Amino acid sequence: MGRMALEFSERVRRIPTYPAAGAYALPEDVALLASNESPDPPLPEVVEAVTAVLGGLNRYPDPTSSRLRRALSDRYGVPSSRIAVGNGSCDVLLAAGEALLEPGAELVYAWPSFSVYPHLAAASGATAITVPVNERDEHDLDAMAAEITAATRLVIVCNPNNPTSTAVPADAVAAFVAKVPRHVCVIVDEAYCEFNTLDDPDTTLDLLKRHTNLVLLRTFSKVHGLCGLRVGFGLCGSEEFVTAVNQVRQPFFCNAAAQAAAIEALRHQDEVNARVERTIVARLEVEDGLRALGIEVADSQANFCWLHLPVAEGEDPAEVEGRIVSGLADRGVLVRAGGALGRPGSLRVTYGTPSQNARFVAELGALL
Ligand SMILES: *Cc1c(COP(=O)(O)O)cnc(C)c1O
Repeated sequence: MGRMALEFSERVRRIPTYPAAGAYALPEDVALLASNESPDPPLPEVVEAVTAVLGGLNRYPDPTSSRLRRALSDRYGVPSSRIAVGNGSCDVLLAAGEALLEPGAELVYAWPSFSVYPHLAAASGATAITVPVNERDEHDLDAMAAEITAATRLVIVCNPNNPTSTAVPADAVAAFVAKVPRHVCVIVDEAYCEFNTLDDPDTTLDLLKRHTNLVLLRTFSKVHGLCGLRVGFGLCGSEEFVTAVNQVRQPFFCNAAAQAAAIEALRHQDEVNARVERTIVARLEVEDGLRALGIEVADSQANFCWLHLPVAEGEDPAEVEGRIVSGLADRGVLVRAGGALGRPGSLRVTYGTPSQNARFVAELGALL
């Protein structure tokens, strides 16, 4: 009998695949700097909160995440009816795509930006309008505003931007949101906002009072270091968005352990501040090390850096990137190649522990 190939839908054939960080079967001392994870293990109190729910796993989780939404409401001053939670913030993002997009509709975002955004258009049949970041690898908000048409349903601003690490100031975000028509949803993806030194991360909360079409997307995956549990949330300018993203998802999209961990994590703002301070120290050390190697680095406001490798005349940036990424991997340092994100010759490198950061800089120097 011949090999039968399954025939998948047009929708599935459109969805791009993004290479997974190939780290999961490697020896212990590998520096995992490819996925913007926290180098810090979960807080003991968070582990305790998770452990406490394990004996009740015969029950479904709270489908409305009511305690978590109340805790988020207390922390951020947004009514809990305007808070959407999810199995990671990507869950809320993909649900937004499903709720807002369809063939004929348009979605606007910068490029390079978060690897999940292209899924939204592919999965819905909507048209993605991508706006190149400027020469400083920052969002070009004026150019993005100019792309909004009668067909636009969703605009995403990733601030700070993954993978380019740069941020636009909060007043520029405010001016941009003010320009977008009220029927167009604006998601400001703030997965890394805690690490941003340009503005207080809570500055944008004010905008929710004026803009019913605004969603601030946040996560417990980065500064809180809980990406293994999957929990994120959207702070919304209206209840409509929450209702719509809940309508398109399966029930119980936020598991019991994740809800308990997130509630506990919110009680440890001092730890968030300590992690941010360590990240900023790492940022300065890595930037100094890279500059000493003669490497240009974008102005990072995140927990990772974005750099352009030196490419000589006649050299292929993709080839240089491939050689460096695999050379680093051979030396036990995993980083993310920019080519998969549309910028060959670039690297995205998460800050790890001080010794991992030093190791990355030293090994890169040796390879160059
Ligand atoms: C990591 C990241 C997220 C968070 O995803 P989760 O699903 O919450 O783990 C969201 N947006 C961007 C831009 C990210 O880099």
